[in-house]
Amino acid sequence: MPAYGMPFPPIRDFPGSDPDCARLSKPDSGCFRLNRTDPCIPRCIPIFPRSQGAKSAGCPGSYGERAAMSSYRNAKNVGYVMIGQGAISQLEEVLAPLRARGGQAVWFFDHFFTTSDLPKRLPVQDKDVIVFVDSTEEPTTDGIDAYTKQVKEGLEGALPCALLAFGGGATMDTCKCVGNLLTNPGRAEDYQGWELVKNPAPYKIGCPTLSGTGSESSRTGVLCNEVKNLKLGMNSDFTMFDQLVLDPDLSVTVPREQYFFTGIDTYMHCFESLSGSYRNVVVDSLAEKAIDLSRQVFLSADMMTAENREKLMIASYLGGLAAGFVGVVHPISAGLSMVLHMHHGIANCYALSVLEDIYPEQHSEVMGMMAKQGVSLKKGICANLTDAQYQQLYDASIVHEKPLTNALGPDFRKVLTPENVIARFKRM
Ligand code: ZN
Repeated sequence: MPAYGMPFPPIRDFPGSDPDCARLSKPDSGCFRLNRTDPCIPRCIPIFPRSQGAKSAGCPGSYGERAAMSSYRNAKNVGYVMIGQGAISQLEEVLAPLRARGGQAVWFFDHFFTTSDLPKRLPVQDKDVIVFVDSTEEPTTDGIDAYTKQVKEGLEGALPCALLAFGGGATMDTCKCVGNLLTNPGRAEDYQGWELVKNPAPYKIGCPTLSGTGSESSRTGVLCNEVKNLKLGMNSDFTMFDQLVLDPDLSVTVPREQYFFTGIDTYMHCFESLSGSYRNVVVDSLAEKAIDLSRQVFLSADMMTAENREKLMIASYLGGLAAGFVGVVHPISAGLSMVLHMHHGIANCYALSVLEDIYPEQHSEVMGMMAKQGVSLKKGICANLTDAQYQQLYDASIVHEKPLTNALGPDFRKVLTPENVIARFKRM
């Protein structure tokens, strides 16, 4: 696709780098450094809240000192990315060398495609394993274990030549997590956390059909562990896709509201990252461009033209690479998802709709985008809840200290008192 070429951001993956709610549970990890090699550019950017006096302290001097500190993350990117309308027609070519090594391919499709002709238009072979992923709810650890069992039975003990995913964040995360469990023993919950996956997964090809989560370019697969009441991803280099095909033809059938609410997630991640205290140059640069593309899409007359679907795919991809810290929107959104089982994208919009005092510009911009695209939020979703449920909403939001500190500083509880937050929920 000549218009956008293939520029690979050389650096990715920073603290809190999950473009989804998994990041909310990420432990405080202190100072992080970029692994730049350009000597003209400062080699490290300690990431502290500006209010605490961010400065370039602790930057190691000689190369030896730097190596001794071992604190430069050796960041991995997605290996190959093919972008543009019709790119999916080259999938057979991409698969050919993998098939030549032997083994079946495993195809993960969002259950939306059960009745679609998409699987028939793809180079699926009779011997391949096909899995339809139920994306009604977010992926769970038990669900991943069940899909893994299904895939292992289909493969009869062999390893696949490739895993492919067609869908949104839920389907892509399912493919990523099942991939890890095909080469690592145990259950999904054993790998919720950071760097717990020990063996490389089979080759994975991500073909997003719904843009916005950034799962296609992130190093996590987010899972809800219902027993532990824990939403946490498998954060690992091995979780990442090896190849992406970003073909806007794949998102042509997405319902408008779903397209908007999922797509706007990229804008949310990126503006929260840019308005926070924990920052770095790479994250800012990617986030700024992702926001620019989101604006071009959602402020245009029709957000779903072929050109706009391609721009949104690229915005989502860049947003996934940026993966900065979030702010107040995601914690409030997480409360809605936990207590009301609301989908992430629409929950973000409800959250921002009552944060006009904290994010006035973004509030008015997103409300304007919704009006422009004919998308609306039904009022009164938290109108008749019990006191216990309001308390649950508050607890499930305020628990996310890191993003709230990123947005409001360490005294965030002085602003977000129970009364303050519950009053916001009641206004939704
Ligand atoms: Zn999000």
